[in-house]
Amino acid sequence: MEPIITLENVSFSYKINEKTTVPVLKNISFSIFPGEYVAIIGHNGSGKSTLSKHLNGILMPDNGDVWVHDLNTKDAKKKREIRKSVGTVFQHPDNQIVATIVEEDIAFGLENIGVPREEMKKRVDEALNVVKMSQFRHRPPHHLSGGQKQRVAIAGVLAMQPDCIVFDEATSMLDSFGRKEVLQVMRKMNNMGMTIITVTHHMSEAAEADRIIVVEGGQIVMDGPPREIFKHKQKLEDLQLEVPSVSQMAEGIHSQFSDFSSELIQEDEFIDEVDKFAKVGVI
Ligand code: ADP
Repeated sequence: MEPIITLENVSFSYKINEKTTVPVLKNISFSIFPGEYVAIIGHNGSGKSTLSKHLNGILMPDNGDVWVHDLNTKDAKKKREIRKSVGTVFQHPDNQIVATIVEEDIAFGLENIGVPREEMKKRVDEALNVVKMSQFRHRPPHHLSGGQKQRVAIAGVLAMQPDCIVFDEATSMLDSFGRKEVLQVMRKMNNMGMTIITVTHHMSEAAEADRIIVVEGGQIVMDGPPREIFKHKQKLEDLQLEVPSVSQMAEGIHSQFSDFSSELIQEDEFIDEVDKFAKVGVI
């Protein structure tokens, strides 16, 4: 299978002035394949946001290359095509919402690229349906909750029909309810075949993905399925990261009740395990 995004020996520094540069990414290589759900994690300042901005040419490498399909992000003429393939949902929903009515906001990007009216209506309807915001289509976005606004922003990106969506700390401004709403939408879109990349410092969020890439000091230090990654508790602690709180609780219960699985990482599976034990009257 051909990758959607390929990074080849990518290095990048921020230029502060003529003399000062801040090296951030150091020789990074990996590929993202169609249908993957990937979480990029790392502690503050590890370079994950800088990395995510390389995935569709918001930033470009000083050395090495980023390919979106067969398009090099350094090719200025291909910028529009690249952004069409890989869309981004940013941290602040307010900065992404441009119109005063929800459905107009979702249609905005489509109008810009000249999508015909009928097609536009169809895409707006579908996108609203996926993010479960159809009943809010005539509302002003500023009356919505943070999670609802972020779902409108997601619908705007989704309506452009990208191959892949990058969520750059897209839940970090939301309360736990809003975060859950957005996580459900990510999982739903991935189940529909959309490739998802989420940059997050929430381990519970990373646990929902199928693959985790751990960044430290601008390099990739771990890359694998969540269940594998979260086995390396000490290594994660050394990287100033934690295993999800669900894993910690599961281990605690396992130490008292050995039949209770110690290998749980997702909230839903933890709840299922508790239910199972409650039914047989152990807990
Ligand atoms: P993370 O997303 O993991 O917190 P970032 O990619 O935001 O990490 O930052 C990585 C490093 O790059 C940090 O040392 C940060 O201070 C620096 N940095 C980020 N943005 C800029 C910028 N615009 N100019 C200069 N340095 C920056």
